[in-house]
Amino acid sequence: MADGIVTIKKGREKPIIQQHPWIFSGAIENAKDASPGDIVTVVKHDGTFLARGYWNAKSQIQVRILTWHDEPIDEDWWRRMLRRAIEGRGIKNIAYERGDAPQSAYRMVNAENDFLSGLVVDRYGEWLVLQALTLGIDNRKGMIARILSEIAPSRGIYERSDVDVRGKEGLKPEKGVLFGEEPPEHIIIQEHGIKFHVDVRDGHKTGFYLDQTDNRGLLNNLLSSDFDGPCRLLNLFSYTGGFGLQALATGGAHGVDIDSSHAALELAEKNAQLNGFHLNEHGQSADYIQADVFEYLHDAVTRGEEYDIIVCDPPKFAFNAQQVDKAARGYKDLNLNAFKLIKSGGYLMTFSCSGAISADLFQKIVFGALADSGRQAQILKHLGPGDDHPVALTFPEGAYLKGLLLRVY
Ligand code: SAH
Repeated sequence: MADGIVTIKKGREKPIIQQHPWIFSGAIENAKDASPGDIVTVVKHDGTFLARGYWNAKSQIQVRILTWHDEPIDEDWWRRMLRRAIEGRGIKNIAYERGDAPQSAYRMVNAENDFLSGLVVDRYGEWLVLQALTLGIDNRKGMIARILSEIAPSRGIYERSDVDVRGKEGLKPEKGVLFGEEPPEHIIIQEHGIKFHVDVRDGHKTGFYLDQTDNRGLLNNLLSSDFDGPCRLLNLFSYTGGFGLQALATGGAHGVDIDSSHAALELAEKNAQLNGFHLNEHGQSADYIQADVFEYLHDAVTRGEEYDIIVCDPPKFAFNAQQVDKAARGYKDLNLNAFKLIKSGGYLMTFSCSGAISADLFQKIVFGALADSGRQAQILKHLGPGDDHPVALTFPEGAYLKGLLLRVY
C-alpha cells in the first residue's frame, strides 16, 4: 500500500528542511490517504519530497518525522535505527553485554534525540522498559519489542506507557509485559558502586531518574575528594535517595532526604539498608523527612540549619511557555533559601528539568536568588544529563535537564 501524502503549506517547509522532527497541524496544507498512526510522505507545495514519518490528526503534532531520506520505513529500517541507538551507548552496552556490569542501568533509546520520535527504552539490568508516547509507536510496539528481543538481550520487556502526554495522541495509559518474563517487584541496579531497588511498575518515569546518573557520580567524587571530616548533605526532592546515598557511601557524611512521597522515602531507606549504609561506621544514618520542600526550606532558615552541600532537583515546574514566570518564581524561592542554608565554602548543586526554561534563563534565575541572599558563588560546572541521554542538535526541546554546581561563600 502506498503511503499517504502530507503537503506542507508554501513557506512553511524551513523547519522540516532543518530537520526538526515535529510538524504542527498549522503547517499542513492537506493530508491525502493518510490513516492514524501510519507512515506518510511529506512533500513541499510543489510535490517535492521533504521527509517521511508517521501521522496522527488527533495530535497537534500531526507528523513525527522519522527520516529526511527518500527511503522506506519498514521493519528493516526500525531494526537499523534501534541498533544504531543501542550501539551509540558505547561502553555502557559493551560492559553489559560482556557481563562486566550485569546490574547496569541506562537509557538505550532517547526518542527524538535518537531520531525515533515517541520511543523511550531503558535498560535496568536484565530487563528493558519501553515507553510508547505516540500512536505511531504504540501501533508498532509489538514489532519494536520483537526486534529489541533479538538485538538487546533481556529477560523481559516491560511497557510503562502510563504517561499523561499520551492523552494528546488520543491514547490511554498502558502497562504490562511486552516480551518475556514479568519483572520482579524491585529490580536491583548498581550505579557508581551503589545498589538501588527500582520499581519499574510504579516508580517515576520508567522507575529511576537515569538522566541524573553522571551528576550523582559527580557528587560522589566531590564528597570523596573535598570532605575529610563529617559533612551534612541536604537532598531536596530526594525520590528514592539517589543523591542522598552518595553521602552515606562515602562515609562520614550525614544525609537528609526530603520528599513529599512516602513511597519514595520508604524505598530510599530500603536502598540504604540494601547497601549496608543504614548505620554507617560513624553510627550515623540518614534522615528521611516527608515534607513539602518549599515549606521545609522556609522553616530550616528560621531554625538556622546549616549544610555543607545542598542538592536541589525538583520536578518539572513549567510544562509550556505560559508557565515559565510562575516556574521561575518557584526556582528562585528554592535557590534563595538553599543559599541561606549553605556553610561558607559549601556547595549547591541545583537543577531544572523544565524544557521551557533554557540553561541561560535558569542561570539568571539562580543569579537573582544569589543576589537576594547576599552570598557569593562561583560556577564550578554547568550540568546536564549523561551521554546515554544525547540531545539531537536539531531538537532544542531535547535539552530539558540543566543544572549548576556552585561553590558558595
Ligand atoms: N533527585 C532524584 C529525582 C527527583 S524527582 C533522583 O536522583 O532520583 C522529583 C521528586 O520530587 C519526586 O520524588 C517527587 O515526589 C518530589 N516532589 C515533588 N514536589 C515536591 C514538593 N513540593 N516537596 C517535596 N517533594 C516533592
